[in-house]
Amino acid sequence: MGSRVAFDEERCKGCELCVKVCPRGILFLSDRRNQLGYRPAAVRDMDRCTGCGICAQMCPDLAIEVWRARQAAAEPQAPAEAAGRGHSEARGSQLGGV
Ligand code: SF4
Ligand code: SF4
Repeated sequence: MGSRVAFDEERCKGCELCVKVCPRGILFLSDRRNQLGYRPAAVRDMDRCTGCGICAQMCPDLAIEVWRARQAAAEPQAPAEAAGRGHSEARGSQLGGV
């Protein structure tokens, strides 16, 4: 499974920051409105998402989560406890700190 991004539409204020920083240009503001009256961000081509996490880092309202697919060929098999998690993806919200 590839990388993917998810939006909490009710937290989104439609500021468009994520849309502008996405290096793949795959984010946009949808036509519908959330309960606050804002047009929430959405993704138009999930397959092109690299899982870079820039959108999540930029969002001032913490409305984005990113799951980055691991590259199976680049990573050796490791026990779940050594890897820190028991599944094959990393949460984008944990990618910050640099
Ligand atoms: S994780 Fe990166 S490529 Fe994917 S939607 Fe966010 S900014 Fe774009
Ligand atoms: S940066 Fe956050 S609040 Fe702004 S449009 Fe994107 S998801 Fe919505």
